[in-house]
Amino acid sequence: MSSSNVVGPGGPQKAPPTPGAAGGAFVCLRCGECCLGRGGVWLRAGETGPLAEFLGLEPGRLEEDYLAWKNGVWEVKTGPDNVCLFREPSGDCRVHSLKPAACRAWPFYRGPLQDEGAFLEAREVCPGLRPLDHDAFRRACAAGGGDACRGLPPRDWR
Ligand code: SF4
Ligand code: SF4
Repeated sequence: MSSSNVVGPGGPQKAPPTPGAAGGAFVCLRCGECCLGRGGVWLRAGETGPLAEFLGLEPGRLEEDYLAWKNGVWEVKTGPDNVCLFREPSGDCRVHSLKPAACRAWPFYRGPLQDEGAFLEAREVCPGLRPLDHDAFRRACAAGGGDACRGLPPRDWR
């Protein structure tokens, strides 16, 4: 996911919209907009095995049916409508309890954290971000907003 295409995954079941989320500055509204395929959802090393087990699939079947190998990582495929294959018609995430770390971290990605333009792009998509300006977003991250704030490798948070 590049900083110019920062729209990422999060999921309608990501977190209850509690005022305490991310230090009180960011509240996920569970709208599911971030699962609509605007950016790739990639898996970190070690995520495919548990995901296959969760879905009751052989790893090869998971890869064949749900994943695509791109730029050295597995990405979750999207359907003809560009929606993540794990997104249910209801908007729920089929793999919610094991959703990729990339989904759990969104929208606290390195791109929007470091670049205000990328943040503004993300804010266009994510209504949870709309009350925030860039400084408030960065403060929310510092308050523990997401995995990307905890120093994970930049490659994981393009
Ligand atoms: S894996 Fe789940 S949370 Fe992530 S984009 Fe797909 S439906 Fe959304
Ligand atoms: S777009 Fe934002 S508010 Fe909507 S589900 Fe994703 S993270 Fe939550």
